[in-house]
Amino acid sequence: MTADSAPSPFDPFQQNNPPDLDSKIVASLERLTGVFRHLLWQEATHCGLSPLQLQVVVFLRFHPLGQCTVSTLAREYHVSRATISDAVKTLTQKLLISRRTDPADLRSHFLQLTPEGERLADQAGRFAEPLHPPVASLPARQKMSVYLGLLTLLHQLQQAGTIPVQRMCFSCRHYGRQPGQHFCHLLNIPLEGLQLRLDCPEHAAAF
Ligand code: SF4
Repeated sequence: MTADSAPSPFDPFQQNNPPDLDSKIVASLERLTGVFRHLLWQEATHCGLSPLQLQVVVFLRFHPLGQCTVSTLAREYHVSRATISDAVKTLTQKLLISRRTDPADLRSHFLQLTPEGERLADQAGRFAEPLHPPVASLPARQKMSVYLGLLTLLHQLQQAGTIPVQRMCFSCRHYGRQPGQHFCHLLNIPLEGLQLRLDCPEHAAAF
């Protein structure tokens, strides 16, 4: 490392001399990203799809029709609309998805899984299963700290413009603070710990 270059969290020397928790967390997140990439690639290969095509199928399976558009998918996976359109074209040719015209705007359409697409999504949507046992084995308090820490990280990344708006409580116009607690003004419920949502069907962007 030169004197004027920024330290890299991937440099073991930087991580350990003196021990630097921030660098260790960043490097750990990078390792976890690699695990997801590997599991996704493995499942996509098994299904005869590209990783992005598999992500599209799984997204369509678990989100309301109003969110199932090319624009939303492009934002979700940080790719261009043209890239999503290519994936959609292939999935349509494979008879896994179909288009439904938006009655409010006949030039727009929503994407919908066919019954075969739903079957595939139900199977492929479990690609991250190997991560469940280690997560489940964490003590409850540690699990909650990890969850709240990840929510906060995602929110800060969103505020910095590094990632698009997440459908989570912290970026929702229905989210509020009441003395000592988070609150959802739409559902009229307190949002403590486990109640805070990462991907909420009722989310409405606050800005
Ligand atoms: S609508 Fe959903 S995302 Fe928004 S505050 Fe309520 S629970 Fe959270």
